[in-house]
Amino acid sequence: MKKQGIRGLAAGILLALSVAMTAAAGPADEIIAAEAQGQQVPQAEGVQQVQAPGSPVVDVAGSGAAGAQTPAEQQADAAAMAAWQQAQAEALAAQQAAQALAGQQADAAAMAAWQQAQAEALAAQQAALQAQQAQQAALTTQGIRQLDPNRPMVALTFDDGPYAKVGNRIMDCAAQYNAKVTFYVVGDRVNTYASEMRRMVNEGHEVGNHTMNHKILTKIGAGEIAAQIEKCNQAVQNVTGIRPRTVRLPGGGKNSTVLANISQPIILWNLDTLDWKHRNAATSVQKVLSSVKDGDVILMHELYTASADAACQLIPELTARGYQLVTVSELAQYRGGLNNNRVYYSFGR
Ligand code: ZN
Repeated sequence: MKKQGIRGLAAGILLALSVAMTAAAGPADEIIAAEAQGQQVPQAEGVQQVQAPGSPVVDVAGSGAAGAQTPAEQQADAAAMAAWQQAQAEALAAQQAAQALAGQQADAAAMAAWQQAQAEALAAQQAALQAQQAQQAALTTQGIRQLDPNRPMVALTFDDGPYAKVGNRIMDCAAQYNAKVTFYVVGDRVNTYASEMRRMVNEGHEVGNHTMNHKILTKIGAGEIAAQIEKCNQAVQNVTGIRPRTVRLPGGGKNSTVLANISQPIILWNLDTLDWKHRNAATSVQKVLSSVKDGDVILMHELYTASADAACQLIPELTARGYQLVTVSELAQYRGGLNNNRVYYSFGR
């Protein structure tokens, strides 16, 4: 009995050793359960040659002498017990280490997931903001922004550009007062000032057609009139993506051939600053303020520093007097709209 019990224990120990050494991270419970069962027969064959590090070979099923335990057997049992305890301790340590590592990995994974979610939320927020801004820009480009139709409004218009040195100053001043203006540009200049052109559109100003080469249209034939308008439309569209809605005739020159060959609405003016002639800011300001009224279309030019100076005085002063500074298309929208093949000078009520 005693010998069989010891052999059973030894077999269990070796089983535990085998499990612990071949799968160090295996749960200690399984090792203990296997040992408690004292399973001897199937495992005995397989574990005969198992040797714990630093331990003597234990010949479990060998032809050991029958009868009382020999000193060698007692020594083997003690060594096996020590090895089993060592293996138990190592298995437990391995399990704890594995659990700690799994915990750290889980924490790291959770943090990474949280950071990813944060980044995605931020990206979604930015996308929504950009969509909102794009929508607002599209609306203002189309002349749809919040305006009070019951308050007076006028359109400042600047011909003969683009010319960034002057145009950007006008836009800087306009931006401070939420004013929008209209630039009637010459098509053969737009590639030179492409970034200024895009700023006009991005900031809600209107870009109109002032022909491709600033030709006086009353002096050219029907086909060339149509080409002057179409080429400018294309040049503006190529740079800004927006096709001009309205046309301003160079010098205001028109006759029946001109009108017959331009299908877009033609916008002239009713308040002329003559800025190109005197090139004096104070004179332009005085001309406007002395006669301005609701629905006026005011003519200036984008080529002169004095015109930018005048614009930067007029924008705050007209705003202070209650005028809404709007594009030509905005003004028209609130005052009866625009029709093709028509000439407009102002948009009074
Ligand atoms: Zn002109």
